[in-house]
Amino acid sequence: MSKKELGFDTKKVRAGYNPSEHNRSVQVPIYQTASYELGDTARAGRLLAFEEFGYLYTRVGNPTVSALEQRVAALDGAKGAVALASGMAAVSYALLNAAEGGGRILTSPNLYGGTIDSFRKIYPKFGIGIDYARDVDDPASFEKALKPETKAIFIESITNPNAVVADIEAIAKVAHDHGIPLIVDNTFATPYLQRPLDFGADIVVYSATKALSGHGSAIAGLVLEGGGFDWANGKFPQFTEKVYVLRDTAGKERSFLETFGDVPFTARVRMNYLGYLGAALGPLDAYLVLLGIETLSERVAKQVASSERIVKYLEGNKRVAWVKHPSAKVSPSAALAKKYLPKGAGSVFSFGIAASEERVNKLIDSTELFSYQANVGDARSLIINSPKTTHGELTDEQQAIAGIAPETIRLSIGLEDPDDLIADLDQAIEKAFA
Ligand SMILES: *Cc1c(COP(=O)(O)O)cnc(C)c1O
Repeated sequence: MSKKELGFDTKKVRAGYNPSEHNRSVQVPIYQTASYELGDTARAGRLLAFEEFGYLYTRVGNPTVSALEQRVAALDGAKGAVALASGMAAVSYALLNAAEGGGRILTSPNLYGGTIDSFRKIYPKFGIGIDYARDVDDPASFEKALKPETKAIFIESITNPNAVVADIEAIAKVAHDHGIPLIVDNTFATPYLQRPLDFGADIVVYSATKALSGHGSAIAGLVLEGGGFDWANGKFPQFTEKVYVLRDTAGKERSFLETFGDVPFTARVRMNYLGYLGAALGPLDAYLVLLGIETLSERVAKQVASSERIVKYLEGNKRVAWVKHPSAKVSPSAALAKKYLPKGAGSVFSFGIAASEERVNKLIDSTELFSYQANVGDARSLIINSPKTTHGELTDEQQAIAGIAPETIRLSIGLEDPDDLIADLDQAIEKAFA
């Protein structure tokens, strides 16, 4: 083969795995083991000094989990990756790794419900402050909300539930002008629709539970690292201080930067947060995510096409008051979507009917095909009343700031025949107004 970089669709079924290293097994084997033989004492010494790569214990490394890490790193153009037991572990380990020791995180109110809850309930108790910029599509609002202790900007590339598109390049510039990294939760887009590292993001996190695995069969997360950020700029002593466990074979202490070159961030998530807080992804779950990724492009392309048809149908239904998706006739995100999401703006979006809560409930209770559940990106379509469920812990004021109107109905479009989905919505909307 020539040296030309392989295409996305080749990488999604091949990258990060070499059969000749695994008894020529064509599919990635499930290494269902807790521990690994060290060989002899000399080898153990080299492993523990990071002079030879090898597995020690599945909490911090497993060959099946490694294949997943390397495959997603290849898809996103990342230098390093660490897989974790959930998307929440990925978000929290990445943010703690950046802001531990009294730092602050600058974010926007347009976030996954669990993330925003954790910002309110957990982070302040660990001494980490959270600040909010008002608009994820307005970089100036981030510039204004920066503080001297801010250690990272954190955003979602496509927000939940209203599919607002973030101006990643401009927000990355704000972050870099102040010597801090941009961390992007790219769960809704997946690397098929967008690679945030290409637009200047430094760290990418995923809930692989959603569209990345796509079948609603495992809980998983990942943290990826682009490799270009300057962690030695004086704001992040955790990467430059000498660490006892990072001794070389001569016994000299080293820092994360000295030991792990251009991937100190993911190495530190692995050693300190995965190692000591312990949200390890099991090999079977890693395998299920790998299996899902084999059809990532095919699934997401169909889900986007069906979503665009359903957006058009909803816009043509006179009972529907509004539809929020970048492909809608009127969308504040249309221009940013053209730049950042040329293959489509995803399959999670919201609409509203001009009606009482009773009618919203009647609509949802009348659907026959759509599942009433929360796990977006699944092969099966879902419908949910976000303000009462996925974003139910937000106060009315927080919902208003995040643009979540009380009548918001969120859809995630799966792989069913789009005509069946439209027919189901049509009869449910009629019943709601009967
Ligand atoms: C679901 C989700 C998470 C949390 O992921 P889990 O795998 O459920 O822990 C984080 N961010 C976004 C955008 C999500 O949709």
